[in-house]
This record gives sequence, structure tokens and C-alpha cells, in this order.
Amino acid sequence: MVEAPGRRAHADDTVRTCAFVVLWLSLLLVTYWWVADGGVQELGGWATGLTSLGRLTGLLAAVLLLAQVLLMARVPLLEAAYGQDRLARIHRLTGFTSFNLMLAHLVTITWGYAAGELGRTPATLWDLTVDYPGMLLAVAGTVCLCLTVVTSIKAARRRIRYESWHLLHLYAYLGVGLALPHQLWTGQDFLASTSRTVFWWTAWALTAAAILVFRIGMPVWRNARHRLRVTAVVRETDRIVSVYVEGRRLDRLQTEAGQFFSWRFLGRPGWTRANPYSLSAAPDGRSLRITVQEAGDGSAALGGVRPGTRVLVEGPYGRLSARARTTRRIALIGAGVGITPLRALAEGLDYAPGDAVLIQRYTDHQLFRNELQALHRDRGLSLLSLPGHRRGPGSWFGPGPGELDDLQALRHWIPDIAERDVYLCGPDAWTQLVKQTLDAAGLPAERLHLETFKW
Ligand SMILES: Cc1cc2nc3c(=O)[nH]c(=O)nc-3n(C[C@H](O)[C@H](O)[C@H](O)COP(=O)(O)OP(=O)(O)OC[C@H]3O[C@@H](n4cnc5c(N)ncnc54)[C@H](O)[C@@H]3O)c2cc1C
Repeated sequence: MVEAPGRRAHADDTVRTCAFVVLWLSLLLVTYWWVADGGVQELGGWATGLTSLGRLTGLLAAVLLLAQVLLMARVPLLEAAYGQDRLARIHRLTGFTSFNLMLAHLVTITWGYAAGELGRTPATLWDLTVDYPGMLLAVAGTVCLCLTVVTSIKAARRRIRYESWHLLHLYAYLGVGLALPHQLWTGQDFLASTSRTVFWWTAWALTAAAILVFRIGMPVWRNARHRLRVTAVVRETDRIVSVYVEGRRLDRLQTEAGQFFSWRFLGRPGWTRANPYSLSAAPDGRSLRITVQEAGDGSAALGGVRPGTRVLVEGPYGRLSARARTTRRIALIGAGVGITPLRALAEGLDYAPGDAVLIQRYTDHQLFRNELQALHRDRGLSLLSLPGHRRGPGSWFGPGPGELDDLQALRHWIPDIAERDVYLCGPDAWTQLVKQTLDAAGLPAERLHLETFKW
């Protein structure tokens, strides 16, 4: 049965609204408890004010700390509603905010306990650390979180390999876990009433359960159930291969065209590292296909993978799929190997002849040329190829439309572009240029569905 565009997009809207409301209500609730405990009155004195501020910032930091862990717990409802690109952006924002609040908590509460005398703060910090239950663990947790945050600052992140950054980032779990005991053993705001105890234990238990179920349990269960193996590796160009995978009961693997998985190919060096690759063909219940361009060691090794190799996956992830669709007509715009999920969408989405157009940007080699021609012939997919070197750093395509600028050219090719759902995928800088043109063309933000192949 054909799904009405917009049904799931509306449901996702509701999930996003609920998530937003739950987060803000939690922040308001802990602030209310702080006020009810006389937090505002305590602001009247210097030392009591510092301690009071320290308590408030600690409470807010704790809520945001849990929220950011939950955002990356691969909870299917959140994954579907936000998509990983957006979740990662929100995670980054809440992460830095909770970290700053945590530092403010550390400084102000210690300063307050030192009777507001800055010179006594180091000695007080030492006393608090060794005398109070759970504080030594909290300090160790803070060090872990500092490591995570420092390596996530853009300038630092660019200097380290993805795998090293990812490994260090996992220390955040340890940091959050180590911070817990001091809250429950020494924080009066956490235990002052049954409702508070219930609130905090529920929040912690739900977050821990989400991690265990969705990051560990689900992938283990899925891989045991489907037992994926490589069936063929086909070279598309000298730097791009397609890998075909089959497994048991793949009709039960709930995935759709446009989504991606994190992949591990066993039995070769580096199998412990998972790499995200999008499906390049619509899943048919029997097999999956990815198409991968060499970018580093992991992707380059795929050309040498043998049929029969066991494959572990995590996913499916991403909302570059029918789920995000709001209207009948669509435009698919992709560059380079970013065409992979769009190729799958062109096959998997439901559309009438003439309702779907695919713009493919490439320099020399047109990936999936024959397959796209077949979709043009059989499904009425309109095709527009944009080959060659880009005509300048500010433009997202090569020579072709004469004197027209990017916006004029786009409007010339697709006059109703602002009324369509646009699925966009490619390198980050390139997608940003296309996005600017789409914004200028009047495309509403909720109609743009974007994925970049960048961490
Ligand atoms: C959602 C998504 C879907 C993707 N789909 C495809 C696809 O269909 N076809 C394709 O050719 N490429 C795809 N990529 C890019 C691909 O994941 C990277 O090129 C690949 O992981 C590089 O790994 P490597 O070990 O070969 O190189 P490395 O030398 O380890 O990395 C090269 C660069 O790739 C990126 N990268 C490495 N590992 C990861 C990771 N686990 N997560 C995110 N980025 C990483 C980093 O920017 C790194 O600088 C996708 C990326 C994302 C985020």
C-alpha cells in the first residue's frame, strides 16, 4: 500500500515537540526545587550565594548531561525524528552547555564552601575531594569529561584521526558514570524528597537502559538474527567498489532506501572500527548493497574483501528516506559518492513519471549511469547530469548553463523547486552551497532533507 506523504513526518514532528517539552520541563522542575529550597534567598549573601549558584548549575548540568547521552543512545524514536546529523548537532550544543555548567558548578560550590574566599578554594577543593563520599570519583569523572570536550573542539578534532577521537569520546560514558555517586551521596537537592529521588533515579535508570538496549543489545540481537555475509564485490571505478551482502530473514530488517548502517567486515585488520555507509540500492528483503569510495585505510580495504566474509552492522540510521517526505514531487541532488543514498531513493520512493528529478554532480565518472538510465526508462525519473570541474569556488556545478548563476540555473532546471521535497547528499562544503541556493529559491526548511558524509 502506498503511504501518504507527510504521515510519518507529522509523527516525527510530534516526537520532536515532546522531546523538547520533556527537556524544558525537567530543567524547570529542578529549578523549581532549587527555588523551593530557598536558593533565591541564599543569593543575598556572598558565600551562601556562591554555594546556591553552585547547586543550581550542578542540577542543570546533570539534566543536560543525561540528555546528551540519551541523544546518542540510538533510540529509534529519536533517530527517526531527528536523523543523525541533527542529533549530533544538538548533542554538541547540549554537551558544551552541560560541560560549562559543570565547570561553573565546580568553581562556585567550592568557592562557596571556602566561605567566599578565593585563596582558600584549592584547599577546600582538596578537603571536599578526600572527605566527601563519591567526590574522588566525581573528580575522575570530570577529568574524563574534560578529555572528551577538549578533543571535540573543532581545531583539536581536525588534528586527530576519527578513530582516536571516537575512542576518546567514549570516555564521556565513564565520566558521566563516575559523576553519579557524588550526586546521590552528597547532593541534598537529589534526595530531599521522595519525588526528587524518584525523578533522578528514573532519569538515570532510563538513560542507562537506553544505552544498554539500543547501543549494545539491539545490534547484538540483529546481527545474530540476520548473520550477514558478503556475496560479491564489484568494482565500479578504480577507487569505488560496490559490496553486496545477504543474510537470513532480511525481510524482517526494518530498513528503507536512503538509510545507512555502520559496517564492520570481519577477518581483516581494522575490523573493530565501524564505518558508516549508505545503502546504494533499495532493500528488497533478500540483499543489501553499499557503494564505497576510497577515503582511507578502511574504505580502501573493501576492494579486497572476499565473498563469504562475515559482516556486523549497527543501524539502520538516518532520515534521508520516505519517512521525511511531506509532498508528492521530489528532487534528489547529489555529488560524487554522495549519490549513493539518492540512487537507492530513486528506486525505493513512490512517485509518478515526471514527479521525481535527480541532479547528479560529478567530475569525470558518472556513478550508476546505466542503473539511473533504467530508472528513467522504467519509472519516469527525470535526470540531469552536471559533469566537469566546478566553475568557481562559490558555485556547486561545472560549465553548462551559460551566464545563469546557481539560483537562476536551478530555477530554470526545476521551476517548482520550492514546492518539492529535496533530498541532498554530498561533501559538506558542497551541500552548504546547494543549501544556500535552495534557501534563496524559497525552499522551506522542513522540505530539505540533508545528509553529509562527514563526522
Ligand atoms: C552517514 C554517512 C554515510 C556515508 N555513506 C557513505 C557511502 O555510501 N559511500 C562512501 O563511500 N562513503 C560514505 N560515507 C563516508 C565514509 O563513512 C568514510 O569515507 C569512511 O568511514 C572513511 O573511513 P576510512 O577508514 O576509509 O578512512 P579514514 O582515514 O579512517 O577516514 C577518512 C575520513 O572519513 C571520515 N570517517 C572515518 N570514519 C568515520 C566514521 N566512522 N564516521 C564518520 N566519518 C568517518 C572522517 O572524516 C575521516 O577524516 C558516509 C559517511 C557518513 C557519515
